[in-house]
Amino acid sequence: MPDIIQLLPDSIANQIAAGEVVQRPASAVKELMENSIDAGATSVKLIVKDAGKTLLQIIDDGIGMSETDARMSLERHATSKIRKAEDLFSLYTMGFRGEALASIAAVAQVEIKTRQTDQELGTLLIVEGSDVKRQEPVACEKGTNICVKNLFFNIPARRNFLKSNPVELKHILDEFQRLALAHPEISFTMLQTDELIYDLPATKLGQRIVNLFGKSYQEQLATCQEETEAVKVTGYVGKPAFARKTRGEQFLFVNRRFIRSNYLNHAVVSAFEGLITENSFPFYVLFIEIDPKHIDVNVHPTKTEIKFVDERAVYAVVRSAVRQAIGTHNLTPAIDFNADVNFISKLTNANGQSNQVYFEERFSTALHRSNLENWEKVFERPESQPLIRQMDEAPAQTLHFASAINEPAKPTAEEKALFQLHLRYIVKQVKSGMMIIDQQAAHERILYEKFLQQVKNKSAQSQQSLFPQALTLPAADFALVLEMQQEIEALGFRFDVFGKNTLAVNGVPASVKAGNEKELFEGLVEQFKINQSELSLPLQENLARSLAKRASIKTGQPLMREEMQALVDSLFACSTSNYSPDGQPIFFIFELNKIESYFR
Ligand code: ADP
Ligand code: MG
Repeated sequence: MPDIIQLLPDSIANQIAAGEVVQRPASAVKELMENSIDAGATSVKLIVKDAGKTLLQIIDDGIGMSETDARMSLERHATSKIRKAEDLFSLYTMGFRGEALASIAAVAQVEIKTRQTDQELGTLLIVEGSDVKRQEPVACEKGTNICVKNLFFNIPARRNFLKSNPVELKHILDEFQRLALAHPEISFTMLQTDELIYDLPATKLGQRIVNLFGKSYQEQLATCQEETEAVKVTGYVGKPAFARKTRGEQFLFVNRRFIRSNYLNHAVVSAFEGLITENSFPFYVLFIEIDPKHIDVNVHPTKTEIKFVDERAVYAVVRSAVRQAIGTHNLTPAIDFNADVNFISKLTNANGQSNQVYFEERFSTALHRSNLENWEKVFERPESQPLIRQMDEAPAQTLHFASAINEPAKPTAEEKALFQLHLRYIVKQVKSGMMIIDQQAAHERILYEKFLQQVKNKSAQSQQSLFPQALTLPAADFALVLEMQQEIEALGFRFDVFGKNTLAVNGVPASVKAGNEKELFEGLVEQFKINQSELSLPLQENLARSLAKRASIKTGQPLMREEMQALVDSLFACSTSNYSPDGQPIFFIFELNKIESYFR
């Protein structure tokens, strides 16, 4: 029998390795930027085109590579960082040691220009799918400039597997933000095509946070600092009042590497207990420094997860650091308690009688009286007129209502039985009984189907704004919007770039109310991000859903009779009328025989 085992050619071995290291443009960004940081760069510049799918470029001013090193850097398991292997935390990412550049070069067209500080000429290398096409001396800046073009050009299956540009871009922005936070002493810039998204000068962590996320973070940061023999925790947490509904601005670093840990996230959130509502998430950027020997390295290398030998000790230190940080800003409930004492004493009036008692007396009688009136009203009202009564109470709408009933074709008894309940539900008589419709859920469904169709057919009408509104967005959001410009315009918005991170919104979808272009646009982006992090929907669906959510009639909004009728009609013209896009039931029917049963 012949021997059948063969060694894989390098190019194939590299491609296989690449599958582990480079899952998407963002992973290449992370690896290349980390290399720049390792090379001692004081400034790192990232350029992306087409969410990194056609171009990723990283330019640094680090130590650069010699001609031989540049060539070597493309070989698998070639690394200049062996001396760090005793650092167990490096071991944790050992899977990539010396694999990143080789992997990237295996699945893209790569151009490297690099020059060491003391050399006059640098080296140019052009590699395509592991094939070195050119190598020659070149005049270039000191440092390293790596261009990655057409990622996965030679693996169509992987290329097709990539998500839409906004999703891929969001991953890149996440990596960029994490590295920028971990290294405030390095200056970072990011360009998307020709647009400057970030320009972050070298600074301290607090200022870096403000530069990344916006001025409003200035007043919301509380300093964290706590140290035991084994662990040190430093950084910032957002004050409770600033906690947001969207997850995504929680950053935890262990020995300067970004990690995810539900366990430690819980340590932070539990320190906020009682200070924020259950569904909001506090902002934090925390750095844990720990001797690598207290980290368990037995975790899959591609994951951002980590295990500590003594997890509970780390938990306790993190929690205590955060507690202290928010405590020193006078935010704990204990301090509120003192305030209450003062408040009560101020309420005591000149007669020595507590004002609080007085208030309680007045309030309870008023309450009692109003309840009484309400009950009386119920009995006063002729049986057939509950609807009219409600309309009478809203004078502005009486006119509409009157004209509605004066129309030549009088509504049938069934149509008449249509009214709004608690500014929240539409109640309508149907054959089998009484239908109760959630107005907000219904409108969301209607708008969603409409927007989805429009964005798919690019058929939305736009209404031009009288005065374009300037809208400045956080840099990451601005980048996202540019990446989705086509789709957003397909919804009916019109906008131009108006300055750094600023748009001029000059048109909104014809089917939504004009006048609050800014809020609607911001709401769209915000909702898009929530949907993306929680649901990872296809782009068009996400946009249609986001806009529907933001533009819909809300609970609490009074509706005129015609509006209710139109809403009901459009709802039942939808392809799905039972559930809102989120899956919430839109209506239910209270069956007649069920109603009857209450009277037997
Ligand atoms: P690793 O970072 O694990 O060593 P890489 O494949 O990412 O593996 O890089 C291989 C080697 O190429 C590095 O060890 C380093 O010597 C060199 N290198 C890569 N990027 C740069 C850079 N931006 N500046 C200087 N040297 C670099
Ligand atoms: Mg590397």
